[in-house]
Amino acid sequence: MKHLIFLIACVLPLVAEAQTKVYINAGHGSWGPNDRPLPTISHPMLASTGRPDTCGFYESNTNLWKCLELGRRLSAAGYKVRQSRVKNGPYPYVANAANAQKYNRPLSEIAAEADAWGADMFLSVHSNAASDGALANYPLFLYRGTDAEEACPGSVAMCKKVWPYLTEAMRSSIGFEFMSAYKTSTNIRGDRDFYHDEWTNSKGYVGYLGVLMQGIPGFLSEGYFHTYQPARHRALNEDWCRQEGIRYYRGICAYFGTPADTRGCIMGMVKARSSKMDGYDCYTYKPDTHDQYLPLNGTEVRLRNAAGEEVARYTVDDNYNGVFVFYDLEPGIYKVDTKVDGYITSTTSYVKVTANKTTYSLIYKYKGESTEFEPATGIAEVKGFAGIAPTDAYAVYDLSGRMVTEGLYADFSRTALPRGTYVIRSGQLSYTFNVDR
Ligand SMILES: [Zn+2]
Repeated sequence: MKHLIFLIACVLPLVAEAQTKVYINAGHGSWGPNDRPLPTISHPMLASTGRPDTCGFYESNTNLWKCLELGRRLSAAGYKVRQSRVKNGPYPYVANAANAQKYNRPLSEIAAEADAWGADMFLSVHSNAASDGALANYPLFLYRGTDAEEACPGSVAMCKKVWPYLTEAMRSSIGFEFMSAYKTSTNIRGDRDFYHDEWTNSKGYVGYLGVLMQGIPGFLSEGYFHTYQPARHRALNEDWCRQEGIRYYRGICAYFGTPADTRGCIMGMVKARSSKMDGYDCYTYKPDTHDQYLPLNGTEVRLRNAAGEEVARYTVDDNYNGVFVFYDLEPGIYKVDTKVDGYITSTTSYVKVTANKTTYSLIYKYKGESTEFEPATGIAEVKGFAGIAPTDAYAVYDLSGRMVTEGLYADFSRTALPRGTYVIRSGQLSYTFNVDR
């Protein structure tokens, strides 16, 4: 017994030490002027502060949503995760108050913390900016070093591995974010060459970005441009941001060779083909893209599986993005139904979910009467009507006497039927039952 205890004591620390350590920095951290506050249609700048309310666009919000999702998933997959912050604030932001920078920590402090912890990977998450309203929208990964030489070995390999996962949305059939470039190439740069500048810290590290001034491999991601205004409206949707976090997660799992996700997601947008986004403030869109069309706030989105059973519902927010997201779905065919006042309730869109990917879906709606969704079918899940043996033949009738299905009773328990009341008959036997799922 003594030996057994000794063995356990020895083995456990070894297992723990083998965990890969990922340090995550969600860029910025308050609702102050340095957190890239920008106006959107539903959250304009307030006269009192010159910034939007805290549900408006702040990089500190959007980066945090991405990183919390990334951290949650990495932890669940067995990684050790440390985050530079897990909150935003404080509110209200008061310049020069003692706690004004509580979650907006100095970049040198974050870099040193990741270094001291001995992270295997460092990731800083941001979005990029040009002049507001510019049409540029593409990602950029920056590592410490020059374009020719990385300061921390492994950084470039990490960038190259994560890039295709991060850009999955942009490269999708609907071009969730269009890219003016880098559709087939990458935008991975050394910070010293990108900024044409460098400095040396007290440890002797040479670089440009303060947050990358550490001795461990990693990079800073500018996931998209929040100055491309339709993309900024999408970023107001927390799920849209969480999806970016999931894309980093998939890339990091690929880099470290841990098992890929066996499930997939759906992310889509609902828009009106008959109305354009002209005449709105802060919504300059790229011509000839779907961004010209009105996103349909408040759309109810219903997800059904191939059998027609309802799996989930999502209500599109009121922030002019039309975004809906469904998470962690078993691979297979799904049906997406949409309903919103003033538009014809959709005929079903079919979406194929693949493991470790997100499937993108752009749904256009047309003006007309909004009607209720057609009834979801349910799985009968009816077993053991006394007297019917598994090998007996059966038939099911609806209340009007129409036969809806027949077969061998052994197959009946997973039969999909619309909600309602039915009669099952087998030989001389007959029973009435309800499908209410
Ligand atoms: Zn930033």
